[in-house]
Amino acid sequence: MAAASTAFDKVARCAYNASGPSAARPGLLRASAARAQKAIWYNARMQELVSRLLAELGEDPLREGLRDTPKRVEKSLRFLTSGYKADIDEVINNALFSVDYSEMVIVKDIDFYSLCEHHLLPFFGKCHIAYIPQKKVIGLSKIPRLVDVFARRLQVQERLTHQVAEVIEQKIAPLGVAVVMEGTHLCMAMRGVEKQNSLAITSAMLGAFRNNARTRSEFLELIRRPALNTTPLELMAGACVTE
Ligand code: ZN
Repeated sequence: MAAASTAFDKVARCAYNASGPSAARPGLLRASAARAQKAIWYNARMQELVSRLLAELGEDPLREGLRDTPKRVEKSLRFLTSGYKADIDEVINNALFSVDYSEMVIVKDIDFYSLCEHHLLPFFGKCHIAYIPQKKVIGLSKIPRLVDVFARRLQVQERLTHQVAEVIEQKIAPLGVAVVMEGTHLCMAMRGVEKQNSLAITSAMLGAFRNNARTRSEFLELIRRPALNTTPLELMAGACVTE
């Protein structure tokens, strides 16, 4: 995770400068040094926890294959939970546009990957989003990024679905928002009930999609349709899976 290590380096550099002879503002520099100390401690602490976990599982954390595992796990967990620190407005980056358009906008088959908060195991699948603009639209490429912001946290699929719908409602006040998520949960597939092929489907319907059954069914019909660029082979494969 380049961003986190860059941030870490920056803090570490501040600490280095603070101890140098040019320390002109001691209060500020003391604070930087304290932050750097905290970052080092936090880094070491998470890796130490992973190392202890490996030992608890009966492994030797010092054997060759596992030696760098705590470092890798920390890096990976920080990325997979980076949504906590994301700034929604930064993600949208002013891609909100005024338009005179009030037909349904659909972005379907957005891949998402998240971690279930009960087992810290992945759940992943497809997300379909629709909204009916009132005065504003949101840049299409920003919609999958908004999904990532909420998916990269510890989640349950129901909450994730609602958060995606709510953020679109807050940012562009559309006439309605609909979000459907279809997810495979590894905590179901690999353990517990061991239902490898079951999908969890969750939905959040706001505004026109909640109040108007025709709007809702138009959306559900449109997301069920195969994409126009789907090849016949993919269509056949899809048919095998669903039958
Ligand atoms: Zn779970």
